Amino acid sequence: MNLKTSHSSNAQDPQIDERFQRPEPSTPSEHERWCYGDDVEVSEPENEEELIDIIENSAGKGQTLIPTGLGHHAYLGPPPEGKILLVSTSRMNSIVQYEPEDFTIGVQAGVSLRHFIQELATNDQELALDLDPQRDGTIGGLVAANWHGPRRHQHGLLRSLIIGLSGVRANGVRFKSGGMVVKNVAGYDLGKLLVGSLGTLGVITQINFKLRQRSEVVSMGLGFFKDPEDAFAFAQEFAYNSVEPAILEVFNPEAVAGFKKECSSSHSKDWPSEWGVVWKLEGNESSVETQEREIEALKKNRSASASGFESLETEDLSAVSRYLTQFSEPDDPFRQDLALLRFSLPARNTRQLCRDVGRIQKDSKLLSEGQLFSPLSGMSVIRLRGDRPALKAGLTSYRELAKEASAQGKVLFVGKDLRREQTYSLRADPNRALAEKIQKVFDPKQCLHRSRL
Ligand SMILES: Cc1cc2nc3c(=O)[nH]c(=O)nc-3n(C[C@H](O)[C@H](O)[C@H](O)COP(=O)(O)OP(=O)(O)OC[C@H]3O[C@@H](n4cnc5c(N)ncnc54)[C@H](O)[C@@H]3O)c2cc1C
Repeated sequence: MNLKTSHSSNAQDPQIDERFQRPEPSTPSEHERWCYGDDVEVSEPENEEELIDIIENSAGKGQTLIPTGLGHHAYLGPPPEGKILLVSTSRMNSIVQYEPEDFTIGVQAGVSLRHFIQELATNDQELALDLDPQRDGTIGGLVAANWHGPRRHQHGLLRSLIIGLSGVRANGVRFKSGGMVVKNVAGYDLGKLLVGSLGTLGVITQINFKLRQRSEVVSMGLGFFKDPEDAFAFAQEFAYNSVEPAILEVFNPEAVAGFKKECSSSHSKDWPSEWGVVWKLEGNESSVETQEREIEALKKNRSASASGFESLETEDLSAVSRYLTQFSEPDDPFRQDLALLRFSLPARNTRQLCRDVGRIQKDSKLLSEGQLFSPLSGMSVIRLRGDRPALKAGLTSYRELAKEASAQGKVLFVGKDLRREQTYSLRADPNRALAEKIQKVFDPKQCLHRSRL
């Protein structure tokens, strides 16, 4: 039986990474200077009026405006040419309205993730994403990056959790859609366009979310397999049964070795560095127990092909969850030898993607820092290590793969030396023409950072 744990509020004092902090107000952080250049300027409006003034004053000065929170993802996509003005939301950082009984909250874009998570924890509530309570970042940055963690197939993408959104377009015109009621948008929901817009359409100033109660019980298990085909076959069984895991992921051996390092229980040291399948169950006591019984039967069916199964102890459960959440982030954004790719394709094609990734890996001089495949959501993340020529050649192979597999793919991270040469999307976006038309409406004078489009 898997070990169960109740949610505990995260009382650890997280370490602040100084490289992302502005040394003084309106000065760039070390990371922003590294990504955008030493002469990057920062403005920090306190409200929408000041924001509109900044946008209007910058018109005709040839500056590229980049909306920003704390700039953690300043590395996304190729940097713009010319003079840059960062428009930071760091002073728009209030919780505007929190209605725990209605499970809704409205926050300004500059509210920090930690503050947000802590506030919700007071009522044992959460946004149904896998936010890491130990990281810096803003809610505006989260929405503009449209990030989602491993629970996405169960709770949906970030877009479906937003009930209202407002902001200012690049031409200084305000926009607003939705409100504080869970179902209130009639017609086309304009606000949803801003989710994942990466600052290319305007500055988001406020977002309203629907929330959920945190689960009473969480349990997590692991299976180990020598052959990836067996790992996928086992994971596939979850989809054919009535088990509804909050998380189900297949890991390659390097990724298994990666999370083993994070685990502290004595027997985690003996886990084999093979292909791994990890699942997480959430719910109340009885629903989790029912699902655990079904998983016991799945394990029995596959016991011949598996090297073993494990239930995670509380400390390992937190470590593996954190490892999973952070998998699509560079451990150090100043690294030059790392590339991080994300693929998204129909869930049934994940296994084939895994085979193709294995073939590219074998033919290249790249080392794997981990691969993660989600057989229920079709999302996969590949971490690659190599010198500049190896990364460049590898990225070309992965672009061809994205094209052949008709997969959506993004270069989530690549070292600064290669960034200028790499587009953010792995293959030409079939909706590019439409995206450009929308961008022209929001930003007619083209003063925003368009290379993230
Ligand atoms: C590759 C990647 C990995 C991630 N990994 C994790 C993780 O491991 N754990 C976790 O909890 N979260 C993760 N996230 C989500 C992350 O928490 C949020 O992206 C975070 O809040 C970033 O905040 P920031 O203020 O540093 O954003 P920034 O880096 O400042 O901005 C990110 C992007 O959004 C745009 N932007 C920022 N604010 C606004 C705004 N107000 N209006 C319009 N555009 C805006 C910027 O121009 C930029 O393109 C990840 C996101 C990405 C993209």
